[in-house]
Amino acid sequence: MKKEKITEADVRRWEAMAGPPKDHVRWLDETCVYCGRQLNSWDQRIANALQIGFCMCESCVAEEEYGMTVDALRARMLEAFGMEPCKGVI
Ligand SMILES: [Zn+2]
Repeated sequence: MKKEKITEADVRRWEAMAGPPKDHVRWLDETCVYCGRQLNSWDQRIANALQIGFCMCESCVAEEEYGMTVDALRARMLEAFGMEPCKGVI
């Protein structure tokens, strides 16, 4: 199934109904300085946990900062911080 971008309008609609899905990813008005991809709430959580400036997507953090794959970074985040990707993160 094709993943669609969650918009603020979607979030407001969920909030009006049963509330937003817990931990669902939110897309932010920031882009990655390396690849230009739009950043989301999961990228932000990674940046906060690793105490790096929030300006990079998870793949660039993984590859540029740590020289590892995204999967390896996610495994590390889970192990070190008990953090799992927000729902909706590809
Ligand atoms: Zn990037």
